[in-house]
Amino acid sequence: MQNLSFSELFPYVLFTDFLRYFLVAGAAYLVFWIIYSKKWQHRIIQKKSPEAKSMWLEFGYSMSTVFIFALIGLGIMRLKSAGFTLMYDNFEQWGGVWFVLSIALMILLHDAWFYWTHRLMHNPIIFRHVHLVHHRSTNPSPWAAYSFHPIEAVIEAGIFVLIVFTIPAHELALFIFLIYMIIRNVQGHLGIEFLSKNFLNNRWLNWHTTTTHHDLHHKHFNHNFGLYFTWWDKWFGTEHPKYQETFEEVTAREKESGNPKSARAINILFGVLLLNNVASAQSPVGTWKTVDDKSGNTRSIVQIEEKNGMLEGKVSQLFLQPCEQPEPVCTKCSGERKNAKIVGMNFLWDFKKDGKKWTGGHILDPGNGTTYRSVIWLEDVNTLKVRGYWGIFWRTQTWTRTQ
Ligand SMILES: [Zn+2]
Ligand SMILES: [Zn+2]
Repeated sequence: MQNLSFSELFPYVLFTDFLRYFLVAGAAYLVFWIIYSKKWQHRIIQKKSPEAKSMWLEFGYSMSTVFIFALIGLGIMRLKSAGFTLMYDNFEQWGGVWFVLSIALMILLHDAWFYWTHRLMHNPIIFRHVHLVHHRSTNPSPWAAYSFHPIEAVIEAGIFVLIVFTIPAHELALFIFLIYMIIRNVQGHLGIEFLSKNFLNNRWLNWHTTTTHHDLHHKHFNHNFGLYFTWWDKWFGTEHPKYQETFEEVTAREKESGNPKSARAINILFGVLLLNNVASAQSPVGTWKTVDDKSGNTRSIVQIEEKNGMLEGKVSQLFLQPCEQPEPVCTKCSGERKNAKIVGMNFLWDFKKDGKKWTGGHILDPGNGTTYRSVIWLEDVNTLKVRGYWGIFWRTQTWTRTQ
């Protein structure tokens, strides 16, 4: 491989590094935020999903990091072939015990490197120019794992350089370390605490950082600088004072109660009994109740109508919080909706029937003035699924029919 030129080798290194990020972050996102999102909903640490816009930003910066890591990786490969590093190829040369020990050493060294460079980057001047990019995600998603300013990416990659000059490392040991690194990194940014509530009481485990640990860093900035272990934060008094309390609160949350199956059966029964439901049994036409993702409270009543074979919807009633302005208007909307009253506003339009779904539509979030591509479908006669797309990401809401 050392005979290959830069242009031949670089795409290969770049792609490998992209896959390392994309497969682990993507798998975590797919499993926790899409396929089993219901199962983990009660464990969302900040009780709200990361915004699609912020995930795109995280993804974009991560691509820049992949590029920088690949460049530095290639540089290290060149140094290795020139005989400048302590890396070795013959497994027998250092044996199995060292192989395991070398991985442990890399992890310990990286943990220290990360803690101290991270604290340095929280120096107000460096923070503003470098580390702020990573902290734009105050509610991070798995995609934030590599979301660094290019200078921070170089600092993060410094650990590879440090390792190859201080620890005799077999290529496979380095590879295992890289896998460990990305998995723990994605764990820190998962946004969902999946560990058991006893984790912090287990003295063999509680010195490993958890998702809650790093999530608190993103939310509050000034504590929990550690990466893999909690030691440095404990030794230097930077552990968040409410770390244990927050972890216990998140892991003690109950799953949403109620029996959806029987509730649905009753809804269907009423659906058959009520005439207007029979008429619209196969269509989203009618009146729907939306709920707030965070509180679970009813947020609005929405009216969907059919016009010229297409569905459109307007807000017919809003349930405001005591702190909200009466008769809110859409300040962030553009065009004719700019500063228009939200009640009465057409915020959903152009849905055409396409098999069992209504596709090709758009939905506007009056809260931020953004329009999303959208697809809706009936899960049963009284349950409407409303999915909004932002690039490759989406979010699905459940609306319930009202009479
Ligand atoms: Zn982070
Ligand atoms: Zn930070």
